[in-house]
Amino acid sequence: MGERLVIALGGNAMTAPDGSASPQDQRAAVEAAMKHVGSLAAAGHQVMLTHGNGPQVGNLLLKNQIAADVVPPVPLDWCGAQTQGTIGTLILNALTHPAAVVVTRTLVDAADPAFEDPVKPIGRYFTEQEARRLERLGQTWRRFERGWRRVVASPEPREILDAPAAAALLDRGYVVVAAGGGGVPVVRGTDGRLRGVEAVVDKDLAAALLARSIGASALVIATDVPCAVAGYGTPAARPIRETTAAELRLLHAAGHFARGSMGPKVEAALRFVEHGGARAVICSLDDLGAAITGTAGTVVR
Ligand code: ADP
Ligand code: MG
Repeated sequence: MGERLVIALGGNAMTAPDGSASPQDQRAAVEAAMKHVGSLAAAGHQVMLTHGNGPQVGNLLLKNQIAADVVPPVPLDWCGAQTQGTIGTLILNALTHPAAVVVTRTLVDAADPAFEDPVKPIGRYFTEQEARRLERLGQTWRRFERGWRRVVASPEPREILDAPAAAALLDRGYVVVAAGGGGVPVVRGTDGRLRGVEAVVDKDLAAALLARSIGASALVIATDVPCAVAGYGTPAARPIRETTAAELRLLHAAGHFARGSMGPKVEAALRFVEHGGARAVICSLDDLGAAITGTAGTVVR
């Protein structure tokens, strides 16, 4: 029997191993990833895909910045929507199975404390001089080890607004791409109307909410390592294969999973299972098939 799966694809499904994101790099990476995804669809699984968009949005922001005197820069939520379209199109071209891409908005709370304290770095590193110039235009920039980088709010996803449309296509047999880049963040104004905001929703946390919204049996987070590791990078490193939400929650609280990388994947897996999802899997993209049958990855129940 086929399963109803939400699969979150990480950077390695869309960029070269060194992170390069030329059109050729992106096409090649997507084609390789879709071989795995296509096999799952051919085996009878219902597959909903979501994906990151960090390098792609970084490129768009840089173009905005360079061309600002010629073409009006567009807001960050527009950049996110654009990447859903371009990455989605690459995915459509790479799959032989019928597929559809849904431009997806993610509702966030205008009062989310993340807006008071933007911490999510986006785009490239710049000099202090350039950072100060852009600060005067209202952006927030921070100094990192490698230089200055723009930071934006990363609010909690509250609702995947277009999940019902995506689910309807899934029910009709399409492989569906939805909530790319965590979804286009929108807030609801006091007048009830939605508007985009300059923020970035974590793609793994959005994937967990998407999986819950569509009643998926499994949330699969495909990345560039075979599984989550306790004591990562230490002599005591221990790959986590089969675990429970309770056990993984303790390891997470003890700080075993890095904040900007494995941390959100573990948090997403936990949220899905803690809210009644049957299982969540964190695996390498190349092990996707084995991870579904339970012979690879970190499996959380
Ligand atoms: P993606 O682009 O797929 O979302 P990230 O680069 O954000 O992936 O996260 C995957 C990375 O997390 C791995 O390449 C690994 O270096 C890092 N990582 C940090 N902590 C851990 C851990 N405890 N176990 C496994 N990987 C970890
Ligand atoms: Mg990565």
